[in-house]
Amino acid sequence: KFNQKVEVYGSDEISNLGRAFNLMTTKLEQVDKQRREFVGNVSHELRTPLSSIKILSETLIHQESTPEKIYKEFLKDIDSEVDRLNKIIDNLLYLVDLEKENIHLDYQITYVNYLIQKIISNLKPLADKKNITLNFDEKVKIQVMLDKFKVQQSLINIIGNAIKYTPENGRVDVELYTQQDSFVIKVKDNGIGIPEDELPFIFDRFYRVDKARARKTGGTGLGLSITQQLIALHQGEVKVESTVNKGSTFYIILPLRSAV
Ligand code: ADP
Repeated sequence: KFNQKVEVYGSDEISNLGRAFNLMTTKLEQVDKQRREFVGNVSHELRTPLSSIKILSETLIHQESTPEKIYKEFLKDIDSEVDRLNKIIDNLLYLVDLEKENIHLDYQITYVNYLIQKIISNLKPLADKKNITLNFDEKVKIQVMLDKFKVQQSLINIIGNAIKYTPENGRVDVELYTQQDSFVIKVKDNGIGIPEDELPFIFDRFYRVDKARARKTGGTGLGLSITQQLIALHQGEVKVESTVNKGSTFYIILPLRSAV
């Protein structure tokens, strides 16, 4: 327990020490609260697929003679819940890794235009399935030192979300441009949007605007959290603007200082 505070009245050295102590206590309380919330969230997120697996397997066990077709269907559902569990655990381990101090970035000369082109061509089939137009507007050509893999992952998360949260026949526009001493990768969709009061939370671990929908689309609620950390490691930032039913725009802003 970190709730031992001292009463401080004066302005002498000892009182100042007391104040510093109280401040530290408050900080520790916050960290402790966050830790407990996180463990609670993880347990909840893992329990949901586990409950589904349990119900599905029990039904199979107790059914006398299940037709093969239904049997296979249940097994398929169990299989995808196991995949989900694996995805959550992989993402969690990755996040924990990212939060370690002295994390190593593998800087390489990266031609950003080419990196985005490659990601877009990989995500194209996903967009095609929903007849979504996926466009890339290259305002500039940029070559910088980046951890290619980490920036690629961030972009896959953001562009993947834009496709995921945009209905059929929509569009996703990716734009690359410079702004002062940074370059910006803007990802604009005309999808479902995010309510204004939820915007401040979307980078929180496990936060999803619509849990049921996100689960159906296979989301873990960890993608944006990971993306934000990956970009922060490069001294960059991720910004978002959104209007419900109109669409969302995400900005990945990275320093140009390491331009080569
Ligand atoms: P998920 O795995 O659920 O997609 P993310 O961390 O990537 O998790 O995103 C968190 C939540 O933010 C999503 O569940 C969704 O509600 C919302 N979100 C993210 N990107 C978009 C977008 N382009 N349009 C609308 N909502 C989005």
